Amino acid sequence: MGFSQVLGQAAVVDNLKKQLEHGKVVHAYLFLGPKGIGKTLLAKIFAQGLLCSATAHPVPTDCADASLSQVDPTTNAPFPGNQVSNGPIFPGPNAETFSPGDPASAHSVPIDSADASSELGGYAAGSATSGPAAVGSSEGSSYDGPGLTDSAAATLSPEGSSSGAASTGAAAVGGADRPCGRCSSCLRFSSGNHPDFLHIQPVKNSISIDAVRDLQRDIAVKPFHRGRKVYLIDDCHLMTVQAQNALLKTLEEPVGHAVILMTADSGSQLLPTVLSRCQQVILKPVSINLLEEYLQKKYKASPGYISFAAAYSHGIVGKAVEVVENENFQQQREEIIRLIHSILQGDSTSIIKNTEFFVENEDRVFEILDFIILWMRDIIMLKEWPQGALINVDKRNMLAKHAINFTTGCIKYIISIIEETKQLLLSNSNYRLTMEVMLLRIQEVVTCRQW
Ligand SMILES: [Zn+2]
Repeated sequence: MGFSQVLGQAAVVDNLKKQLEHGKVVHAYLFLGPKGIGKTLLAKIFAQGLLCSATAHPVPTDCADASLSQVDPTTNAPFPGNQVSNGPIFPGPNAETFSPGDPASAHSVPIDSADASSELGGYAAGSATSGPAAVGSSEGSSYDGPGLTDSAAATLSPEGSSSGAASTGAAAVGGADRPCGRCSSCLRFSSGNHPDFLHIQPVKNSISIDAVRDLQRDIAVKPFHRGRKVYLIDDCHLMTVQAQNALLKTLEEPVGHAVILMTADSGSQLLPTVLSRCQQVILKPVSINLLEEYLQKKYKASPGYISFAAAYSHGIVGKAVEVVENENFQQQREEIIRLIHSILQGDSTSIIKNTEFFVENEDRVFEILDFIILWMRDIIMLKEWPQGALINVDKRNMLAKHAINFTTGCIKYIISIIEETKQLLLSNSNYRLTMEVMLLRIQEVVTCRQW
């Protein structure tokens, strides 16, 4: 497992790698982004990097203190970000909004995957000398919050105390390419059996206060491997309010050896006090072209279907992979396309059969209705902007037939009927009746074609 597995999140990955490389991390991170974007994957890789014991640039033990993380180990020169020692650590246009001495303020600085420059003061993302001023990186070395340096971790390590820095004359101080994938820690992590990594996941769509208390009990136990323990709370937006309040105590009074990683689809369901105590790592959808290229290299599906998968997923890698890998999805898509074709034929005798289809697939009705809307959107694209990007690229011929038969106004009206139906379903209307009325209304539009 390594950062190369993460697709299209260069700014975020660069920033996290710098934090590992420079040996400073904060005590809590929140990975934010839509479902399937790769939050858990990235958080796990970062966790493995935090626990990795690779040492690329050993330095003499008598220099191995926290201040060394401000020095480039390859040249012994100070990092550029340290040259203005009394200046603001976030010297961009928004510098006044950050308070270096305030851990809560500093932690809330987001790492933005697509717009790091604007979020972090106008720096060019990925530059080694003027990159985003990440909390915990060399640029933020004046930050004195509850971060944990690698050198500090080394002094906490049971291994280090017995046979580590003092006896070998070297200590791990940044520079290593972590996770290395080869050290004993990485191997244990990859086997899913690392004693200093705890992965908490929701049970029945909820994370209870008991799970947080388990975490707190575990934090109190000394690390086993390298002086650091990492906790990953997946879908932390599913924590109950009680669980969040319990976790808040740990975030407010962090334990030196613990790093808490959390993932969430959005921060809206989290307490502001929890949000403000985490460094936010924001993942955004990747470009459709990049995703298409990735899928083409990895899968043998037809180019048309690959293009559809990339467009349909809106740049969310996990969703695109599922579209390509899941044969059920492909089969269900074909069923929905047959349904759409049947609806647009305007045959009144098919209404009963199509109603039954919706009844049989009630659990995914919104997914089906959204797919029909996307199909209608493609018809409008073909009619109004023939060079525009289709989502159902591989079904262009069938879309073209539908485009010939209907006006744009007609298709827009069908979309409005479907949107109204979705609203009715959300208000707990009679399901079968609602779907039947929707099909009757669309049938009327299709046969009259006066819009
Ligand atoms: Zn390693």
